[in-house]
Amino acid sequence: MSDSDKNYSNGEITVVWKPGVCIHSGKCVQGLGEVFNVHARPWINIAGSSTERIIQQVDQCPSGALSYFRNEKVGKAAG
Ligand code: SF4
Repeated sequence: MSDSDKNYSNGEITVVWKPGVCIHSGKCVQGLGEVFNVHARPWINIAGSSTERIIQQVDQCPSGALSYFRNEKVGKAAG
């Protein structure tokens, strides 16, 4: 991860955006404008949609600039 990478967390997942990798295809903006809005600051509004919908859109980023990881659940161990 480079210094310019941006992280956006909604508590469940963290979306990572790598500006150096983004090819500005606009696919995220067209697909999910409630979250990805280049006119807003910050341009990613992680509260704008559901976690599953955001994951779906992140997976469609053609350059790999968008990625996500699931945040650790605090307190409860699985199994
Ligand atoms: S879909 Fe990916 S490459 Fe296209 S504008 Fe969004 S972040 Fe950049």
